[in-house]
Amino acid sequence: MAIKSSKNEDKIERVIATWEKIEDTQNEVKLRPKLIEEYVWQEAIKSHLSIAIKSAQIRKEPLEHVLLYWPPGLGKTTLSLIIAHEMNVNLKHTSGPAIEKQADIVSILTSIQEWDILFIDEIHRLKPQIEEILYWAMEDFSIDIMIGTGTGATSIKMDIPKFTLVWATTKLSMLSSPLRDRFGNIMKLDFYNDAELAIIVKRSFGILNCTISNWDIYDIVAKKSRWTPRIANRFVKIVRDYVTVGSDIESRLWIDNIFVSLWVDDRWLDILDRKILGSLADNFWGRPVWLNTLASMVWEEEDTIEDVIEPYLLKIWFIERTARGRQITEAGKSHLDKSRKL
Ligand code: ADP
Repeated sequence: MAIKSSKNEDKIERVIATWEKIEDTQNEVKLRPKLIEEYVWQEAIKSHLSIAIKSAQIRKEPLEHVLLYWPPGLGKTTLSLIIAHEMNVNLKHTSGPAIEKQADIVSILTSIQEWDILFIDEIHRLKPQIEEILYWAMEDFSIDIMIGTGTGATSIKMDIPKFTLVWATTKLSMLSSPLRDRFGNIMKLDFYNDAELAIIVKRSFGILNCTISNWDIYDIVAKKSRWTPRIANRFVKIVRDYVTVGSDIESRLWIDNIFVSLWVDDRWLDILDRKILGSLADNFWGRPVWLNTLASMVWEEEDTIEDVIEPYLLKIWFIERTARGRQITEAGKSHLDKSRKL
């Protein structure tokens, strides 16, 4: 039984974004793939999802809950949209930090419709008492609601529509194993390779109606995008701007100069990456340091360092995680020295 009241709806408006609102705020309406065949690469995940979706449709049941984990910008939100499209149901989108109180999650769960997809991003930042409500909602599609206060308070069990929860996290290790066990589909993506990213880059230029005659540009933009589609699309839009207003376009020097003006170096590090490396090398003399100390030294959020900056630096072995914290590697130091001499 789905309950709706105008008070509930106001609340949901703040906590939840419908798909159209996600598109509006991110200005990504055109670039984000909406069909499974438009989603580049990740063949194993796509084929697994296609089968799971077809099976759910034949069984006339919602898709089993989905847990997506990988670093930001690699396509979690996009995949949740695709699932909703393929299942032909609504998608509701919210995030762990946006759900502050039990009443928030109750409002959301009582407003969804049968088979809807509820996408919750940054699930590792959800409060434990809210996680507990979701346990039951996921397992037997019911929630307990407290009526009244103090000694007169009673709890009423209420059925909610059968739905699919899509949870996204960059930190699988922070989810308890009973919680993980409740997901029928657990999927991990890794960074894309240059060839796959070049396909995304070419597709995005095409969608933006930006004609590129020198096909090397696709590969160069892909290479600079550190294996991440979101970064690739950001660069595509910047290069599109240069193409729109520029002269002497599409030479190697032209594209290199664009990236120099963006402060992206030859290992595709930007200012923020170099700031972290610089701090590890200078402030801590190459010794290991805890995340909170590093964050306060460079004036960045711990989450930004851990979720956005670190994965790439770890992947290219410029920093390492030790039992005593983060540490710059020899390769990281020599890159930093080289870029400081330029
Ligand atoms: P996340 O939710 O993991 O942070 P998003 O789903 O928002 O990442 O993806 C970031 C951008 O990258 C989106 O604009 C989307 O268009 C693009 N993108 C991600 N994965 C793919 C893919 N496999 N094929 C094409 N574009 C993609």
